[in-house]
Amino acid sequence: MADPEHPQKPDTKIITGGRRKALTGAVVNPPVWRASTHLYENVAALNEGGNTNEDGRFFYGRRGAPTQWSLAEALTELEPGAHGTMLYPSGVAAIAGALLAVLQPGDVLLMSDNAYDPSRSFAQGFLKKWGVETRFFDPLAGAGISELFCDRTRAILMESPGSLTFEVSDIPAICTAAKAQQGKREIVTLLDNTWATPYFFTALDKGVDMTILAATKYVVGHSDVMAGSVTTGKRHWQALRATAQTLGQILSPDDAYLAARGLRTMAVRLKAHEASALEIARWLSDRPEVAKVLHPAHPDCPGHAIWRRDFTGSSGLFSFVLKGDQDSAARFVDTLELFGIGFSWGGFESLAVPKRPEHYRSATHWACDGTVIRLQIGLEDVADLKADLERGFAALSAA
Ligand SMILES: *Cc1c(COP(=O)(O)O)cnc(C)c1O
Repeated sequence: MADPEHPQKPDTKIITGGRRKALTGAVVNPPVWRASTHLYENVAALNEGGNTNEDGRFFYGRRGAPTQWSLAEALTELEPGAHGTMLYPSGVAAIAGALLAVLQPGDVLLMSDNAYDPSRSFAQGFLKKWGVETRFFDPLAGAGISELFCDRTRAILMESPGSLTFEVSDIPAICTAAKAQQGKREIVTLLDNTWATPYFFTALDKGVDMTILAATKYVVGHSDVMAGSVTTGKRHWQALRATAQTLGQILSPDDAYLAARGLRTMAVRLKAHEASALEIARWLSDRPEVAKVLHPAHPDCPGHAIWRRDFTGSSGLFSFVLKGDQDSAARFVDTLELFGIGFSWGGFESLAVPKRPEHYRSATHWACDGTVIRLQIGLEDVADLKADLERGFAALSAA
């Protein structure tokens, strides 16, 4: 399907990806292919089946079936330079699977200080017990990260923008610094790309070795499935795959089906999330109750120039600093009716949650004049969302 003379645009690739006739048949939407056991013709075929380790040939349920392979291929096709994608039952499982594929006891992991809290917990709990030391770095370190390298540094986990505070890292500079070490010791770069997805930020062609998605968010898009993925080039593919299989990681065919179905509309959804989020962020920045808006597309966001250079858009998640204390933030959020109060994001519905980024920092200090409220802007009408936020502000002045 791919014509090197005319590479498909991302909107088209989202529609065509993973739809190889040889893999899923002639149907438009690959059905749920549920199975654990494959019956072989005879013992010779059984032995032969056990020797192959390739997808595209059903062997045993733990290695997936056409529903999962199709989704994995579709995600691979969105990342120029990718060789393959492994799927996981959640985003956290994908982060753990990627890190375990590259780290060994005795290694040092560098992790961006704005990383997702469960990524920090995995490093500070599991990896520590397993003999891996984690050192956190300033997300704005850029090429300066090389000052932190030592002869035990094995991997760098980045998250850009950070999903609470939204500063944007210079990923190409960090990856270049890591690659400059090669010869001495290979440092593998990993990115949690959940906020931008490959639609707004292709990671491997910026130098990243492994790119991770909590597919639970924008890929699934409907707040009803947990899923994760890791996409990588040839170099790290076998290690990634072997680790996932050793750990018995599998995304169920039903969940893979829903994620694949969600993916087909991801481009239109992301553009709608983007437009509404930008409009609400701009509107919030003019409100007297708001101290600051934390959105990569705003010029005062740390790393804004890098976002403009490297990203093709922005998604629906951002934060703002509400003047006042935790009680005001709770009153504001409790008053909202359209914005739900809940974990996760990336679905069609809007969410609002107070956040305490200062609790999830160790290498950098985070402070603000008020309380952080994170918004996921869904696909509702913007005027209705603004009216809802107005209600929240009115409740503050009434108190
Ligand atoms: C939600 C999230 C994850 C984890 O995904 P789950 O599917 O909830 O396990 C990882 N990274 C980021 C940035 C997230 O927002």
